[in-house]
Amino acid sequence: MDFKILDKLLAGERPYRLKQVNKAIFKDLLTNWDDTTNLPLELRSMLSRQFPLSIDGRIIDSRESDSVKAIIRIDGDMLIETVLMQHKTGRNTVCVSSQIGCALDCLFCQTGKLGYRRDLDPSEIIMQVLFFQRYLKSRGSSISNIVFMGMGEPFLNYDNVLEAVRSINNHEKFEIGARHISISTAGLPEKIKLFADEKIQVNLAVSLNAPNDELRSRIMPLNQKHKIPELMESVKYYIKRTNRKVMFEYVLIDGLNDSDEIAKELVDLLKGILCLVNLIPYNGEPPLKSPPKIRTGAFKNILQENGLNVTQRSRFGSDIKSACGQLVFGEERSEG
Ligand code: SAH
Repeated sequence: MDFKILDKLLAGERPYRLKQVNKAIFKDLLTNWDDTTNLPLELRSMLSRQFPLSIDGRIIDSRESDSVKAIIRIDGDMLIETVLMQHKTGRNTVCVSSQIGCALDCLFCQTGKLGYRRDLDPSEIIMQVLFFQRYLKSRGSSISNIVFMGMGEPFLNYDNVLEAVRSINNHEKFEIGARHISISTAGLPEKIKLFADEKIQVNLAVSLNAPNDELRSRIMPLNQKHKIPELMESVKYYIKRTNRKVMFEYVLIDGLNDSDEIAKELVDLLKGILCLVNLIPYNGEPPLKSPPKIRTGAFKNILQENGLNVTQRSRFGSDIKSACGQLVFGEERSEG
């Protein structure tokens, strides 16, 4: 499915054809062009050949939680992972990947261990959304939120991600409100500023993970190049331009970034900034560990007592390795 080709294929057609085709893909969620009733036979067979609607994906069910992982094959042998989180409130959030692998190699993240493989193009991002929209339709439901928190660094694939976001938001396509879409970045200051200047109301999340440069550089090598003052300056620019709240994500790791002193440093860094802190207990393999519950609670209390808005992310799908930072499939592994 290559949406760039689609525009070319329909270039000679009447303008309303594109509307009909978009409706078939994004609203009716058809998986076969023969199921359309309003397209001429010739067009249908041309589309079947040149723009097949099938997606080569499979579902891995999570028994422990309400999260479902899908593995989608692209390009013959590359695999991308996408996760659906079904919240009790009825909210259905899809966590999409923006790259295969990742170049940033954050200490706590499994995807980084793969290294960087390649960027996903807009069609490959859209396909992940389409896959779960179809899945939910068969269960009488639909996607309500999209988060770019899967594999990869969205702002290192900026143009493709933004193009995909526009399709997700487009009223002829998925029609998911911009305020229901979030992009999470490890913190690329120049891209945060660029994003601030886009006329789009998509939410920004920044993975902070530490309040000082020494610690943050150990956890996120990217910080050696873009230090916290530069990051915060770009975040302040974003808030000034958009008047929107920023979410700071903070993965809590036992004995590393979870002490009372560090919580107080975090307060000093974020005080007065229009933001929300999202605490995420580390979820993954040893030697790193998540802090004991009591430590997480104490850390959270210090932030709250000092006036910061704090939420704690619940764990989704750790049994199927679909929790944050555990998306590692990059290419098919031989089964023997
Ligand atoms: N590159 C982007 C998006 C991918 S990470 C970014 O850095 O924001 C998406 C979220 O998963 C981030 O909030 C990150 O902090 C979190 N995460 C990654 N690995 C994790 C782990 N092992 N345990 C808990 N959260 C993790």
